Amino acid sequence: VSDGDGWRITGEKWFATNARHAEFLIVVAVTNPDVDAYRGQSMFLVPKDAEGLEIVRNVGIGGEPSGTGTHAYLRFTDVAVGSSNLLGAEGQAFAIAQTRLGGGRIHHAMRTIAQVRKAFDMMCERALSRETRSGSLARLGVVQEQIADSWLQIEQFRLLVLRSAWLIDKHGDYRRVRKDISAVKAAMPIVYSDVARRALHLHGALGVSDEMPFAHMLVDAEVMGLADGPTAVHKSVLAREVLKLHRPSESDFPSGHLPTLRAAARRHVADRLEREVAAL
Ligand SMILES: Cc1cc2nc3c(=O)[nH]c(=O)nc-3n(C[C@H](O)[C@H](O)[C@H](O)COP(=O)(O)OP(=O)(O)OC[C@H]3O[C@@H](n4cnc5c(N)ncnc54)[C@H](O)[C@@H]3O)c2cc1C
Repeated sequence: VSDGDGWRITGEKWFATNARHAEFLIVVAVTNPDVDAYRGQSMFLVPKDAEGLEIVRNVGIGGEPSGTGTHAYLRFTDVAVGSSNLLGAEGQAFAIAQTRLGGGRIHHAMRTIAQVRKAFDMMCERALSRETRSGSLARLGVVQEQIADSWLQIEQFRLLVLRSAWLIDKHGDYRRVRKDISAVKAAMPIVYSDVARRALHLHGALGVSDEMPFAHMLVDAEVMGLADGPTAVHKSVLAREVLKLHRPSESDFPSGHLPTLRAAARRHVADRLEREVAAL
């Protein structure tokens, strides 16, 4: 709510990464509830020691040692911020956040490629090293299939990320690459968890142990499907953007309806056919 030439912020925020280490927080708050969310939110810089701001607790990701969590549950009680704390113009928070998140999502993808390649390299090394009663794992068809599937998924994903990064450079406008960034974001947790899961299994009991990184990778893959927006939301954005490039059918039948196409083709060539037949 506005207060003199500034604002007072009251509310709670869950999962603010690294807030415990930060000196200031970037806070998005509704400053105008009478317009839509795209225009009614503003962004503020709030010093960590501001009166009324508390970290209720630091939450950890599943599997992390207790007490080491870095995702803060924050509570703001009537925290005063001046107009100089406003980042950008009033009502611009959504636009600013989308610009930051666009690049951030591609960075998540680049780090994911590195993690997935690491899991893949370990998987190949294990397949070549581990001898069972049936011989080396690498000689088993089921293992070869897992290696082939993983390689394909990684390279497909890498090319999708490269293409999206290229489009960002080309257009210099994240809004024009929304669909592509959402596609990367939606594909990321699948390739990550698929490859990490196969690598874990090929390592047997060692794979699930805390002496290898795979269990952590599996949780990390789930995090990639949540942080900066859940997969379901990105798929929805992707589908809506793709549908904008298409049109509904102009008749009762789909434009690819074969009898309709055949009849149209007959009409199109009927005169010529008649002339050619008459000339025979
Ligand atoms: C490791 C980590 C770090 C984070 N760091 C930060 C941070 O620094 N700052 C910050 O502000 N936030 C941060 N977040 C929060 C993150 O942005 C949210 O967790 C995420 O947007 C999902 O919101 P939610 O947790 O409220 O889940 P919900 O909105 O409750 O969603 C739960 C599930 O419901 C479904 N769902 C939700 N909405 C839709 C929809 N529209 N259509 C279809 N299905 C839907 C999806 O399956 C989704 O996974 C972080 C999260 C994680 C996991």
